[in-house]
Amino acid sequence: MKDKIREIEKSAVEEIALAADADMLEKARVKYLGRKGLITELFKNMGGVSSSERAEVGRLINSLKVTASKAFDDKASAISGGRDLKCQKVDITLPGIAREIGHLHPISRTIEEICGVFISLGFKVVEGPEIENEHYNFEALNIPLEHPSRDAFDTFYLADKWLLRSHTSPVQARFMEKNNPPFAIVIPGKVYRPDATDASHSFMFHQVEGLVVSDNIRFSDLKGALTLFARQMFGETTKMRFRPSFFPFTEPSAEVDISCILCSGESRSAGHDSRRCSLCGGKGWIEILGAGMVNPKVFKNVGYDPEKVTGFAFGMGVERIAILKYGITDIRMFFENDIRFLRQF
Ligand SMILES: [Zn+2]
Repeated sequence: MKDKIREIEKSAVEEIALAADADMLEKARVKYLGRKGLITELFKNMGGVSSSERAEVGRLINSLKVTASKAFDDKASAISGGRDLKCQKVDITLPGIAREIGHLHPISRTIEEICGVFISLGFKVVEGPEIENEHYNFEALNIPLEHPSRDAFDTFYLADKWLLRSHTSPVQARFMEKNNPPFAIVIPGKVYRPDATDASHSFMFHQVEGLVVSDNIRFSDLKGALTLFARQMFGETTKMRFRPSFFPFTEPSAEVDISCILCSGESRSAGHDSRRCSLCGGKGWIEILGAGMVNPKVFKNVGYDPEKVTGFAFGMGVERIAILKYGITDIRMFFENDIRFLRQF
């Protein structure tokens, strides 16, 4: 037993001395002084020591513990640069250091707000890759190579038919291939278009798309969901208008407008140029998104039976929603990282 104590003492002092950083030192401390450490074990084994030797062995173990603890403390303060907390003086009369508290970027915040409305309706958030292949970005969504609408979506190509996605819709196709209806999802994310940058265009922007598929989804469900969204986003009195439109992946399709959030459509009847609203230009309506019933061809492409399922889809530009909501005049402000702009949110 005495030999063992001496042995442990030697190796403990050595290991503590060799510890090069706080982690190694902590490992050594646990090994020797921890609750299941070697020194603690020695105390537990005292029962097997004959009564004549017990007092001496006890003293030896105690002295080992003191030696190891001191070696540990010395090494700890050496590692922390001799900074001993007990010696630190804190002047509590000094003014505190205020930490700058960050917050969400207006785009992240708008994405959270948009998704939040749909989450409250039972939608699930799904994300997908920004680098896509042509199949998911175009063909799976009923946009074949020769389709004229492909021009509008054309994007940045990488090698071998890979490209930066031009919309978040490929995630719809990817999700449908792996999941069966019924489901309701929203898909937020970055998209890319070869647009020259100006006050209202950017080569990169954000979209949120939604997709609901089940056995009896009707256009009225789409209208209900979007009306609720518009009211939560822009106020309870917001009105909606659906205009017939065309998208390859929906049929029928609609552009969706809301009543102008600046003039509520009142400048429409003003009739005089000087009183025209700067936001809607006197039209009384502003376009916020595109939507429609999922084209049966899209269902076929992902292996669903269009006779059995129906669904609706919608997609909106996040920057556009944020611009309208916060009265921002230039899309470039979102990406310039000017702290004076960002602090306003
Ligand atoms: Zn207006």
